[in-house]
Amino acid sequence: MVKEVLDTAALISWPIIRLNGCYAIPSQKIELCKIYPKKEIKIDSAELIWIEPDEKSLEIATNLAISTGDMAGLSKIDLGILALSINLKKTLVTDDYRLQNLAEKAGIEWKTVSTKGIKELWKWELRCIACKKIYSQPGKPNQKKSDWGECEDCGSELKLKRIR
Ligand SMILES: [Zn+2]
Repeated sequence: MVKEVLDTAALISWPIIRLNGCYAIPSQKIELCKIYPKKEIKIDSAELIWIEPDEKSLEIATNLAISTGDMAGLSKIDLGILALSINLKKTLVTDDYRLQNLAEKAGIEWKTVSTKGIKELWKWELRCIACKKIYSQPGKPNQKKSDWGECEDCGSELKLKRIR
């Protein structure tokens, strides 16, 4: 059995037999049991290894996410499982294209839960939708994932845009 680091989509959709021996972070379990309480028994039955990434791996993941411009689109859990993959040198299983992008950049193997995955690497910038002013990436994950505040010049919404 190959032991991989799993994102929450894999925890929800994969059968117990495929979850056995795989890795996830403790905050995923808390989130999952809150959002999908019916899945709690299944998750408890699986022999998952719940472990936090070490500080060094978290730092590597953080710096990488800032450099690619993905940070503003990541949750704390996203960053945590990326760091855990780096820490354990294990394949990251995720359908999140930002995490696939980052795993690729980190030299970590990744595979998808169910979808096809990315074909090219992307970079992102945080930009005002009105005046197009470009903002620097936040230094830590975004709590709400899609709310990056307002432009200090014109007060319009900031959005993540792919750099072409
Ligand atoms: Zn603006």
